[in-house]
Amino acid sequence: MSATAIRAPRGTLDLLGPAAAAHERVRARAAALFASAGYEQIETPAFEATELFVRGVGQATDIVEKEMYTFEDGSGRSLTLRPEGTAPVCRAYIEHGMHKRPAPVKLWYWGPFFRYERAQSGRYRQFFQVGAEAFGSADPGLDAELIALLVTLAQELDLRGLKLRIASLGTSESRAAYRQELSAFLRAHQEELPPEVRARIDTNPLRAFDAKDSRVAALMERAPLLLDRLSAQDAEHFAAVRELLDGAGIDYVVDPRLVRGLDYYTRTVFELSSSELGAQSGVGGGGRYDRLIEQLGGPPTPAIGFAAGIERLLLAAGERGASAEDRAPALYIAFAGGPPRSDERLRAFALWREALAAGIAAQVELCGRTLKRALAHADRIGVRHVAIIEGEELVLRDMRTRAQRACAAAELLYAIAQERG
Ligand code: AMP
Repeated sequence: MSATAIRAPRGTLDLLGPAAAAHERVRARAAALFASAGYEQIETPAFEATELFVRGVGQATDIVEKEMYTFEDGSGRSLTLRPEGTAPVCRAYIEHGMHKRPAPVKLWYWGPFFRYERAQSGRYRQFFQVGAEAFGSADPGLDAELIALLVTLAQELDLRGLKLRIASLGTSESRAAYRQELSAFLRAHQEELPPEVRARIDTNPLRAFDAKDSRVAALMERAPLLLDRLSAQDAEHFAAVRELLDGAGIDYVVDPRLVRGLDYYTRTVFELSSSELGAQSGVGGGGRYDRLIEQLGGPPTPAIGFAAGIERLLLAAGERGASAEDRAPALYIAFAGGPPRSDERLRAFALWREALAAGIAAQVELCGRTLKRALAHADRIGVRHVAIIEGEELVLRDMRTRAQRACAAAELLYAIAQERG
């Protein structure tokens, strides 16, 4: 009786060949874009103290209330697999005293994130995000810069049907008065609200704008809007951001009902979506979080950032995102007489090492194929040159012309390198 095969956990993906290569391509594009804009890469651990997300993301958020993978380690510490990247990057910014660096401090990251969400197409329990955070400037130019970087990344990946929505959530002061007004509005319509919205009337009333329920959505059409309650400075900041986007020809719509899921945002928030995605249309989003560093124990530091989901970027790019990269090895090393003798195997191994050292992609025949089958295999995987080992002899075969000639190893590698330019 055979054992039951174990499957990958629900909501996770194995990245095989082309999928892994596609991820890598997005990472490389992002790395080049961020480097050219002066962003430094940062990698933080995949897990953090649970307290970081409770304080950083906010208790009354979906993430903290129901989506975190939290566990105790061997010494009873509560740890959580990171559900998002901003709080960890802020933690690192404070821990390494980065406020002493010349501002703005600009960082970007890439890696896996974990949320216990209902899995569906475009929504996973482990997913990859690429993100950027910039610290130490309240200038609206930084808001426009981050928005432009997100849009540029999506455009470079040839995403279609893009829609950028922006709004301003004001500062915590202007929001406090508005929250009371909104709470009062929601309380007056309590009986029309589903339990999860009702439960947050006092703790996070703005989330009512995110409710999927059509009755709530209809009610929220009549709700007072934060954009109408901004202080003069907040309104001026928002106008400056829009002016920069207009000047740069970046299309957007102002969406007064865009609140974003997380508690920490202040002033500018933005979200990029693609009509080529289904229900999970969000490609990326972010916003300003001028109080977060302070809330996490650092010095008052204005900051702004965004994150984009790699799986969503790839889904929205579709086949256009895939390039016909040449992954075929340049050299295949086979044996004239089928399974090699030990001295032939040694020679093949040495030649393979020399080829790799010379920057030539190479593979050795390792499945005991006869020469005929090895050549057929080399053809199938698109190899241009085959080195055939027979005792002390070495023959180079050009798979395109079928020409064969005996040569020494050094000459063979030189010829291949020359041809590849
Ligand atoms: P958020 O941190 O929720 O603002 O998410 C930023 C981006 O990450 C989203 O626009 C998505 O592209 C991606 N994302 C968030 N959650 C998931 C998930 N569960 N599965 C796949 N991608 C996700």
